[in-house]
Amino acid sequence: MITQLLKDKRLRLTSFRKEVLQVFMDNDKAIAVSDIEDALNDFDRITLYRTIKSFIEKGLIHEIVMPGDVKKLALCAVDCNHEEGVHDHSHIHFQCKICKEVFCVDVPSLPNIDLPGYQIDEVEIQVHGVCEKCK
Ligand SMILES: [Zn+2]
Ligand SMILES: [Zn+2]
Ligand SMILES: [Zn+2]
Repeated sequence: MITQLLKDKRLRLTSFRKEVLQVFMDNDKAIAVSDIEDALNDFDRITLYRTIKSFIEKGLIHEIVMPGDVKKLALCAVDCNHEEGVHDHSHIHFQCKICKEVFCVDVPSLPNIDLPGYQIDEVEIQVHGVCEKCK
């Protein structure tokens, strides 16, 4: 699974990349860089930052910035269109006000936003409320 994902995204297989990707696989929520650092035993910070950057560029993971919160990262959908660094997702970002966790949630359809005169590259929808576990 992990090996295939890296291959699909044309990323060279290294044991470190597999290790970092595994941390994302182990979480059903968006994670912060500090969560990845906690999950890794031994790592070089520069290598970790480079790995995260290349994962984002290749459309393997995406960044989520909720207002007033630290930057989080989450796996992209398999069909994420990452051309020119643009992430195209048909999901919303949900933040639970109780556990504070951020989740990528798939929705059947997103509102169609039409902005005459503007070119839309990316639409991000952020929703706040109470997650399934905290309800
Ligand atoms: Zn993406
Ligand atoms: Zn919650
Ligand atoms: Zn997401």
